[in-house]
Amino acid sequence: MNRPAIEGGKPIRETDIYYGHQYIDDADIEAVTKVLRSDFLTCGPAIQKAEDKLKEITKAAYAVLCSNGTAALHIAMQAIGAGPGDEVITTPITFAASSNCALYCGARVVFADIDETTYNIDPQKVESLITERTKAVVAVDFTGQAAQLDELLEICHKRGIYLIEDAAHSLGTMYKGRPVGSIADITTMSFHPVKTVTAGEGGAVLTDREDLYRRIALYRTHGITRNAAELEHESHGPWYYEQLLLGMNYRITDIQAALLDSQLDKLSMFAKRRKDIVKRYNEAFGNIPQLIIQREIEESDSVRHLYILRLNRERLSIDRSRFFEAMNAEKIHCNVHYIPVYYFPYYESLGYERGLCPKAEALYEDMLTIPLYYGMSDEDVDSVIEAVKRICAYYAR
Ligand SMILES: *Cc1c(COP(=O)(O)O)cnc(C)c1O
Repeated sequence: MNRPAIEGGKPIRETDIYYGHQYIDDADIEAVTKVLRSDFLTCGPAIQKAEDKLKEITKAAYAVLCSNGTAALHIAMQAIGAGPGDEVITTPITFAASSNCALYCGARVVFADIDETTYNIDPQKVESLITERTKAVVAVDFTGQAAQLDELLEICHKRGIYLIEDAAHSLGTMYKGRPVGSIADITTMSFHPVKTVTAGEGGAVLTDREDLYRRIALYRTHGITRNAAELEHESHGPWYYEQLLLGMNYRITDIQAALLDSQLDKLSMFAKRRKDIVKRYNEAFGNIPQLIIQREIEESDSVRHLYILRLNRERLSIDRSRFFEAMNAEKIHCNVHYIPVYYFPYYESLGYERGLCPKAEALYEDMLTIPLYYGMSDEDVDSVIEAVKRICAYYAR
């Protein structure tokens, strides 16, 4: 019997690996040091350069870089004018920022359940939850597969509701041949080190609408403008600027923007490797009765940020916790994406209760995230496959 490490067998790996890791090369380091030696550490030329590159990749008309993906979501909510009395619909299977952004503005969050095969928000559920107070839907491209954007756009637009796409997982993904970033009313991104490309910390807000772009740019920087066309009073002189609304300082630095710019040059290389690994995982795990793999969405040519395994508990004698610990013992450190947002004590304090989204809750019980990142070697991928197979075989029932 091939005994798992947790049962006293020899671990499959000698070194530890984790579910995600950034990839930094000499070009990245050079790009950052060049900024450090320059005149501008922030508000300089590196920011627009990276914004231009992001526009080229996503085909969005406007791109505004900001300090992180959470700030990007907050800016998006402010730009559409979400506020007290409004409702924002989102999925519970996401990072809390996707729903916190509505709370920052005083809006209420309404959670819509997921599709149990793709794990993305279910458009029919969304439609059933719309009221006259619904201001926006925040759709998350979970793991990097685009949400059902056309269906969601139709549902939203016939009622004057904004579709915000949280594309923190899906930079590089194409939906029906169109790049993510040019489809929803506003698309937000994150460049945290676990994401497909990184700025250390960083985010972006993308849109095709000029009116929204103006507000997005203002909200990033205190609501302040120097743009003559936007001033409400007559200019006092060359130093003059005005604050038009209450924004934040959500700027990114030139140091981060230069790193992002350099990372974006590697996006197609990152994407190809991620796709290769996903293909190998799908082939390896697709026929194991102990596992359920996330359904591939045909309309989405996906660059995956995460790879999720769902355990088929009817065929396994152990639960997710034990599986997770068994992987740890093999030196493969998994994660869980995500705890349903409304399970958190803070959300409970707002009145959300268990049972709200049964499919999301059921998924949460049985899911884990295995390593997926550009720098994984073929041997790393093999070791993950071997460990998963070993554990499934040992605990099969
Ligand atoms: C990472 C992430 C965010 C937040 O991004 P930060 O840059 O960490 O603030 C938001 N939504 C989702 C789905 C994410 O994965």
